Amino acid sequence: MPPGIHSKLGPSKSESWINCPPCLKLTEDMEDESSEYASAGTAAHELAEYKGKKILGLKAGSRPHSDYDSDEMEECTDMYADYLKEQYDQAKLTCPDPVTLFEQHVEMDNYAPGSFGSCDFMLVADKKLHIVDLKYGYIEVQAKENTQMMMYALGALNLFDCLYDIEEVEMTIFQPRIQNISSWSMSVEELVKWGNEVLKPAAELAAAGEGEFNPGPWCSHNFCKARTTCRARAEQMLELAKLEFKPPALLSDEELVQVMDKAEELSKWCSDVMTFATIQATEHGKSYPGWKIVEGRSVRKFSDTKAVEEAVKNAGYTDDQIYSKSLITLTAFEKLLGKSTFNDLLGTYVTKSTPKLTLARDNDKRHEVSSNAANDFID
Ligand code: SF4
Repeated sequence: MPPGIHSKLGPSKSESWINCPPCLKLTEDMEDESSEYASAGTAAHELAEYKGKKILGLKAGSRPHSDYDSDEMEECTDMYADYLKEQYDQAKLTCPDPVTLFEQHVEMDNYAPGSFGSCDFMLVADKKLHIVDLKYGYIEVQAKENTQMMMYALGALNLFDCLYDIEEVEMTIFQPRIQNISSWSMSVEELVKWGNEVLKPAAELAAAGEGEFNPGPWCSHNFCKARTTCRARAEQMLELAKLEFKPPALLSDEELVQVMDKAEELSKWCSDVMTFATIQATEHGKSYPGWKIVEGRSVRKFSDTKAVEEAVKNAGYTDDQIYSKSLITLTAFEKLLGKSTFNDLLGTYVTKSTPKLTLARDNDKRHEVSSNAANDFID
């Protein structure tokens, strides 16, 4: 998709407008929130596409470079390309000619008028379509019931339906920065049913600016542009905060759970509001009664390290006093030696600190472990 061109009923914001149709009209004139993260993400996608094509033996053009080139981006895009190769090799076991497409433009006009998007990677083999979306962020995204992926899949079916007899769609979110690979499959029948029964009516309401405002987790994790100033969300949050506790003086476990259940959403909302107001005040001259702009902590650093070296040496300080020598990090060694040599040579010296225990929702994908208290009891 050419940069800067966005689909109105866009897949990336679909979780918001499907759940809260009027948000589309409410936010259509609001400025896009461009960020360094988004630019780094674009650079990572370009490099990932190049490496993906290369590893699959396709024409890749010349290697893209950007200001965001780094060891981390190198490693993440290598992981992505390796993953695509694995999927391709797997498909080859049962299908002699799997079809692969990168950054494929797809349209979902028949479900959401004017809606289009771009799929990072598609693989068609036999009766199965696999779409992979590379996410370069740190906020975990799950493939299950992911409306953006389901829209891409519908767009892909529009392209391939008359060419292949696809029966199943697998959707994968590949998030190398947090080691998250999340996949989910559904039948074409179920997907089309969702398209007709959920997507289509929501798109009609959203395009007309109709329907009910419906605050939910999508306000924050789908980055609705109104999330800080939306009245419906504010009212819901303030309602959440109105807990009615009766005596005795100390909260019970049930009441603590009530607070914990609401704390996540409330703290996200508070943080969204603070960030928005800070930007308005510091960058747009807005003032808020009872609040002022102050300077935060500033970090000292040398502007010219060569000049510093020269100055201290001229002052008679020795190399031992001014230089420190240290080993490169574990990750840097792994990159230097490669995984297998690293394991052979240094594996026995690698230890892992005991992870700090934390509370998580019961749908968290990590395994439940026993508490410190239970472990003490066993000891
Ligand atoms: S913040 Fe939430 S409730 Fe408000 S318009 Fe956006 S999606 Fe709807």
